[in-house]
Amino acid sequence: MADTVTGTAAQTSPARARDALVGVYAPPPPLFVRGEGSWVWDEEGKRYLDLVAGIAVNALGYASPTIRRAVDEVLDTGIVHLSNLYRTAPAEALARQLVELAFPGKVFFCNSGAEAGEAAIKFSRRWARAVAGPEKHVIVSAEGGFHGRLFGTLALTPREKYQAPFRPLMPGAVTIDVEDAAAVDSTLDPDRVAAVMVEPIQGEGGIRPISDGALRHLREVCTERGILLVFDEIQCGLGRTGSLFAHQDAGVTPDLLLLAKPLGGGLPMGAVVAAPHVAETLRPGDHGTTFGGGPLVANVARAVLCTVSDPLFLEAVRTKGALVRERLASWVERFPGVVEVRGRGLMWGVVMADPVAPLVQRALEAGVLACGAGSHVLRLVPPLTILEDDLAEGLDRIEGLLS
Ligand SMILES: *Cc1c(COP(=O)(O)O)cnc(C)c1O
Repeated sequence: MADTVTGTAAQTSPARARDALVGVYAPPPPLFVRGEGSWVWDEEGKRYLDLVAGIAVNALGYASPTIRRAVDEVLDTGIVHLSNLYRTAPAEALARQLVELAFPGKVFFCNSGAEAGEAAIKFSRRWARAVAGPEKHVIVSAEGGFHGRLFGTLALTPREKYQAPFRPLMPGAVTIDVEDAAAVDSTLDPDRVAAVMVEPIQGEGGIRPISDGALRHLREVCTERGILLVFDEIQCGLGRTGSLFAHQDAGVTPDLLLLAKPLGGGLPMGAVVAAPHVAETLRPGDHGTTFGGGPLVANVARAVLCTVSDPLFLEAVRTKGALVRERLASWVERFPGVVEVRGRGLMWGVVMADPVAPLVQRALEAGVLACGAGSHVLRLVPPLTILEDDLAEGLDRIEGLLS
C-alpha cells in the first residue's frame, strides 16, 4: 500500500525519523512499553538499563512481584479509595510502621513530595503559633536545596529560574548556607524562625551531601532555641543511601521528616512524620487531602517499606554503593572531563567540566538511562534492587562514552 500523508504506526518511528531528517534538533525521547528488573524496552524492542529509576522512585525496579501482590490485595477488597472520613487498615499499618522505623510521632499522608513540604510548612507554623505567636513564622532553607514547586515549597527552593516567573512568593522564607555555622547562628532567631528545612543529601541541587557536622550543628541550635528541624528525605531517604534514612548516618533526628518519591512504589504518595510535640498542636481542619493515604497507595507503600527496611536489603545497597564509589573515584583520575564525584549508597552525582546534556543523550543511544541534576552533574540513582552485573554493565557503558 502506498504511503499516506499521515503515515501509519508501522511507517513512522524514531529510527526512521533519524534516517530521514538532518540531525539539527534534539532527537525525541524513546517511547517505552515494558520494564523488568532494572531494564526498560522501547517500542522498537531496544533495551535500556535504567540508572534513573523514574527519578529515584522505582526503588524495587520494574515488574516487582512485591508491588503486584500489594496492588492485588487491595483490588481484591474492592476499595481503592474511601477518603479520610473513614478508617482503612493499610494507612494505619503503614503509619505505625513508619514511626517505629523513624522516630516516635504521628504521620500525615499526601500525594507527592511538594505536598509533603507544604504540609511541613503548615505544621511548623501551626506549632510555632501554638508555642509562641504569629511573629515566629519564618522557614529557613538551604542554598542549593529543592523542596518542590508549589507555592510554599517554591519559596524554599532558591533557584532563580524556578522562582522568578512567579513572584511574589510565600513571605517568611529565608535561605542560608547551612555549612556556615556563623550564618546558622545569626539567622536562627528563636523569636522569628519556626523551622529549618534541609535535605541531608541535596538531590536536584547536584547530589550534594550536607556534612554531618552541619547537620549536628543545626540540630543543636534548633534544640537550644526551640526551632523545628525538618529533613526532606524525599530523594535520599528510604534506603537510597544504604541506611533506611539518610539522617541516621549523621546520628541526627529531625522533628519533621518528609518522604515521597520511592514510598508509593511508583504510585503518587508523600508522607510527613511529625514528632509528638508538633503533632499535638494540630487540630481537625488544620490540613487535609482527599486522596492522601488511600488503601491502594498505602498498601503498596507498606510493601515497599517492608522491603527497603530489611537489614539484608540495606546491606546489599551498601555493597553495591561501594562498587559505584570505587568505579566513580577512578573516573576522576582517568578522565579530565570528570571533576568530582559525590554521593552515598546508590545516590551519586558525577560533576563534569562541561554540561551533561550531550552525555545523557549519548548514554541513551548506548542503552543507558541517566539524567542530570543541574547542568553539570550526571545523576545516577538506579533501582535499589539493581543486580551487581547490571550495575557494572551500566557503568561500563558510561565509561565507554567518557573515554
Ligand atoms: C522530588 C523532590 C521533591 C518534590 O517532589 P514532587 O513529588 O515532585 O512534588 C521535594 N524534595 C526533594 C528532595 C525532591 O527530590
